[in-house]
Parts: sequence; C-alpha cells; structure tokens
Amino acid sequence: MNHVSATEMNICICVRKRPLFDKEYQAGEIDACSASNPRVVVHEPKIKVDGITKYVNDINFKFDNTFNENENSQDLYQFSIRDLLPSIFTNGIVTCFAYGQTGSGKTFTVNAITKYAINDIFKQAQNHTNVEFFMSMFEIYGGKCMDLLNNKAKLQILEDKNNKIQVYGLEEKQAYSASEVQQIIDYGHSIRTTHQTAANDTSSRSHAISQLYVKVNGKFAGKLLLVDLAGSERAADC
Ligand code: ADP
Repeated sequence: MNHVSATEMNICICVRKRPLFDKEYQAGEIDACSASNPRVVVHEPKIKVDGITKYVNDINFKFDNTFNENENSQDLYQFSIRDLLPSIFTNGIVTCFAYGQTGSGKTFTVNAITKYAINDIFKQAQNHTNVEFFMSMFEIYGGKCMDLLNNKAKLQILEDKNNKIQVYGLEEKQAYSASEVQQIIDYGHSIRTTHQTAANDTSSRSHAISQLYVKVNGKFAGKLLLVDLAGSERAADC
C-alpha cells in the first residue's frame, strides 16, 4: 500500500503489526490496533467522566512504512533492506534493527528478511569478481557478550585507537553459498539464550547480532548487520 523504499531515506522506520495469536483470541483479548500505511492507530478504550459511558480514543502514529497483519515478510523486506543490499559490495554498511516487546514478532520478521537477503546477496555477487563472504554472530545477554559461533566464548567489546567499536576475538566463518550462510545462522540461533515469557513460550531474551562481511579482491567491501534485540521491556539491559 504505497510503501516507500528505504533507499529514499537515511533511516527507515518500519512498523509491522502481527496477527493476534489463537491463545489471545481464546482469552477474549481484543485487537486494539490497526495499521494502514503509513499510520498505526491505537484504539484505547476509555470511560467518560460520568463513570459509565464507554468510548474509544483513537491515537494516531505515523511512520516511514507500516505493514498490517495481511502483509507478508516479503513486502516488508522489499521496502526495508532489499534495495540497500547492492551497496554492501561497494563500501556500504546496511544495518537492520528489530525492536519491540517480547512476542511482537521480531525474530519471526528478522529470520524471514534474512532468508530473502541472503538469496539476493548471492545472486548479486555474480555481478562482481572475487567475492568472499564471512559470517559472525554474537549475543549480548545480562551485560555479557558471547560468541554464538564459538561455544558462547566470552567476548570483549573494545574501542580501538580510531574510536571504532571492535568485538575482540570474534569467530569469523567463511561461507561459500546462501545455504551455508543460512546453516551458520540457524546454528547460531539454536544456541541463543531464550527464556519462557508470558507472551510466547520460547521468545528470545538476548540481543543477537549477525554480521555478513563482504570482501572483494581480498579487501573489506561492506557488511550487512541484522540485530534482533531482546524484548523492549528489557530496555534497561541495552
Ligand atoms: P519476539 O522475537 O519479538 O519475541 P517472535 O518473533 O518470537 O517474537 O514471535 C512470537 C510468535 O509470534 C512466534 O510464534 C511467531 O511465529 C509469531 N508471529 C510473529 N509475527 C508473526 C506474523 N507476522 N505472522 C504470523 N505469526 C507471527
């Protein structure tokens, strides 16, 4: 619905509304939010000062792109990172953060976007010569940084002399195909720290950062960073 590509802006904020779970319907919960690009309307039930009359207060929010429960992950991918990806072969850094409450669909959405992105990146690599891909993954949980591709080895986040943040000792695995990148990501996610929550039985409670480095002719050419944040209710831990 008239979405705008992320290439048109410096930072693109997309909001996705997930459908209600069966569990929520059965519990008699009501869908109190509607999304129609670029707006989200929150329908807040209120009672007038007479203490009896009920009414709904609609609160409008506007974002760069809004996706409703009928729009799929491919739609979201298309208008968020898809058109930015060619830049990772030409000194670009593309970063995608997923932020929201636990159970709101961050992991679901990031996983789907990752699949589409990897396939497109490997197709685009055919337009370049001598391209190499390296994956690294780490999580931040309880203030500690751990390597998801190296048995959760503890990592240090340091600042180098150029004031750049470096994750010291991070394992990098070379990947030769889209399916290999996917396998590495699936492995990393399988050992990610999760915890049972009220909204969802196995929601992730750690920040997971997946990085795909691209080298062209042996030199760093760009990278894609996918950041699946812990539930926003744990914001104090960020
Ligand atoms: P979070 O990472 O924000 O804690 P999840 O991605 O684990 O949340 O999503 C919680 C549950 O909701 C999962 O079972 C997921 O499959 C489901 N879900 C999330 N978004 C959608 C969606 N857009 N359509 C269908 N199911 C969804």
